[in-house]
Parts: sequence; C-alpha cells; structure tokens
Amino acid sequence: MAGAGKERVLSGMRPSGKVHLGNYLGALANWVKLQDELDCYYFVADWHALTDDLDTSDVPANAVEMVADWLGAGLDPARSTLFIQSLVPEHAELHLIFSMTTPVTWLERVPTYRERIEQQHLESPSYGLLGYPLLQSADILMYKAQWVPVGADQVPHIELTREVARRFNNTWKPVFPEPQAKLTQIPKVPGTDGRKMSKSYGNAIYLSDSTEEITAKVKPMVTDPARKRRADPGNPDVCPVFDLHRIFTPEADREAAATGCRTAAIGCLDCKGVLLKHMLPPLARIRERRQRFVEKPAQIVEILHEGSKRARRIATQTMEEVRDAIKLEP
Ligand code: SF4
Repeated sequence: MAGAGKERVLSGMRPSGKVHLGNYLGALANWVKLQDELDCYYFVADWHALTDDLDTSDVPANAVEMVADWLGAGLDPARSTLFIQSLVPEHAELHLIFSMTTPVTWLERVPTYRERIEQQHLESPSYGLLGYPLLQSADILMYKAQWVPVGADQVPHIELTREVARRFNNTWKPVFPEPQAKLTQIPKVPGTDGRKMSKSYGNAIYLSDSTEEITAKVKPMVTDPARKRRADPGNPDVCPVFDLHRIFTPEADREAAATGCRTAAIGCLDCKGVLLKHMLPPLARIRERRQRFVEKPAQIVEILHEGSKRARRIATQTMEEVRDAIKLEP
C-alpha cells in the first residue's frame, strides 16, 4: 500500500497546461524527492482554477498535459496518490463547514487575496476568490497532512489552515492535526528575457520542449546588459544565464564560466554552450519519460481516476468524523 505508516504531505497545482522550468524547479522536483520519505498526495486543483478563469474548455486537456509532465518528472503513481480535486467532492463539503467557523477578516487579510485585487484591479472579487485559501485549508486538512511543501510566500496560507483546524477542534471535537509548512528553497529561475519565468510573459522553457526548442530559446537569452561587446568583461551575478548555470552546471564548469565571463576570456555564446551541455541531458530524460505517457493519454486519465478513488476513501473517513463531531443528523 502506497505510503503506509509514513507522515503525509499534500500539494496541488492548477491545471494550466504544460509545466515550465520555473514550476518544475519551484515545486515539482521537490514533490518527486518527497516520494521517498513521505506518503504523498498531489492533486490537480481544478476548482481553484475557476478563481482565475470561468472558461473551463481547456481544463481537461490542460490537466492531462500537466500530469504528463508530473509523470515525466518522476512522480510515481505506485508511491504517490495523484488525483483530481473535483473528483473528491468532500473537499467542497468541508470547505462549507469551515466557512461557518472562519471569520471573513481572516480571509481578507491573506496577502495573496489583496495582491490579486490590486494587480488585476478587481472591483467586485468573487466569493470564491476570497474563500480560495479556505478551500486550500479543506484540501490539506481532509487528508490530515502533517506537511505542506510551500515557498515562503505561501506560509500565511498554512498559518490560516492551522487556525481553521484549531477553530474547528475547539468548536466541536479535535478532528484535525495542525499541518506544518515544509519550506522549499525555490531557486531563482529566470525566463529567457531575464524576468521571472512565467507562461504569461512568453519567456518560459517547457519540460516538453525539444532539444532544438530549448537551444533556440537559450541562445538569444538576455545576459549581463553591461556586456555589450565580446571584449567587455561581464558580471555573472547579474546575468540570468548564470542563474541557470547555478541550477544545472557542476561547480568546476560553473566557476570556469564565471571566471571566463569576468575576464572576457569567453563570449556569451560559449557560456550558453556550456549551460546547454549540462541542461539538455536531464531535460531530455524527463521529456522521453513524458512522451511515453503523452502517447497514452487514457493511461493518464486512468491514473488520475484510480488516485481519486484512493483519495476519496480517506476523504470519506474524514467527513464521517466531521459529521459525527457536528451532529446535525437527527
Ligand atoms: S559570459 Fe555567461 S555569465 Fe557572463 S554575461 Fe555572458 S552569458 Fe552571462
């Protein structure tokens, strides 16, 4: 039985399609590592996607595409439970119960809510957007996960989840353990234009990109802007290409590239060539594994349905405890 006797971890990703290097290095690579030590539950956050866009026409295909990347990156359905949030409707029921015990002010002070309103100039944010961290709390507490892998910006969500658990336990009966944030070191992953890698900026390198596509994206990549000519010395510390060296290139070659940059002994194209030499093989391994699943999308759907059944067995038990605690039934 997957994960029997181990501490549990839960995390999810919105089905926005192909996974890029920023998503991979910021979350997915860590998920893969955690499979060895913890009982892992990873889900397609399709209800959460509705807070971004109510047009669902791409969601099913995007979910399959994204999970192909998960499997290509090394998530193993025999060790991790991979499931779809909306196939476990108990999440919605638990969210409803929590909405009764959670003051609106707790949700209004969540930083990501305020940021979304400001950045997108939302005049009339939906109830779902306000409640999204609470649905996230339901996602986590449903599985009584001890750990939630997050970056520093998500820590307030875990703190909210702990408060939600405490409030429920004090109101009715201790059902929920308080989860802890498993802080993930998220490396700086620049896009090809030097800004943060993001699908919306059009600067992303995808796990599904071929060797030729990755090469064609890396070669014209933005470098140290002060290094205008080949003879100008550069500064790796301000160069986005060097951020990728820090991730992919072993120390000896990386140091040689840095020295070559500072002394103008190498040009930026040489430096990018060294990066590609180290970056392409691991990405090729992921892409080849991914391709085997892409050719059989029905197998991906089956993995998600099987995982959702497994997740639902736990969700059903938790909701029995919740209903027993709040005693509504005559
Ligand atoms: S040599 Fe390398 S580190 Fe230096 S500016 Fe060019 S790409 Fe960046």
